[in-house]
Amino acid sequence: MSDLVFYYQNRLPCAAFAILEAAIKEHGEHELTSTFDEFRVDQYVLADSATSRIVAIDFDNTITADPEFYLALIKVYRESGWEPIVCTLRDNMDDNLLEIREKLQGDGMRIYTTDGRKKRAFMLHQGISVGLWIDDYFPGIIQFGSPLLLRNGIEY
Ligand SMILES: [Mg+2]
Repeated sequence: MSDLVFYYQNRLPCAAFAILEAAIKEHGEHELTSTFDEFRVDQYVLADSATSRIVAIDFDNTITADPEFYLALIKVYRESGWEPIVCTLRDNMDDNLLEIREKLQGDGMRIYTTDGRKKRAFMLHQGISVGLWIDDYFPGIIQFGSPLLLRNGIEY
C-alpha cells in the first residue's frame, strides 16, 4: 500500500513531526501537503501539546491504510523517546482490541478506545496531553472551530 497524502500545517517547530517527515521521505511514495483539501488528504497530522512526548495514532483508515509504514514509524518514535499510542473511536469490545493488537503484530503499545467520544477531551480526561495526532478523520479529535484546528491551518 502506498500513496497516502499527509496534511501538516503548523508554524511552530514540532520534533514529533520531524520524525514523521523523515519517515515519509524515506518511504518515497507517500506525500506531504500543507494545503487543506478534504478530497485529497488521507491523513491529518495535528500538532497539539508542545511538551507532551505522546503521539496518538488513529486505527481505522490510518494504521490500516498502510500497516507496514505505521509499524515502522511506531518503532522509530519509540527509539527516539516518544510514546506512540493508538487512539480510536471504536469501543473497548474484545473483538476490537484483538483486531487492533493483531494488526500491530503484538506490539504492546497503549490502546485508547473512546467509544465515539471526541478524542482530545477523552484523553485529557484521562490526564493525557497529546503532542501529535495522526488521524484520517480530524472531526473525531475535536469540534470544528477549535483553537487546535485553527493553529493547524484548518479554518472551518
Ligand atoms: Mg480513522
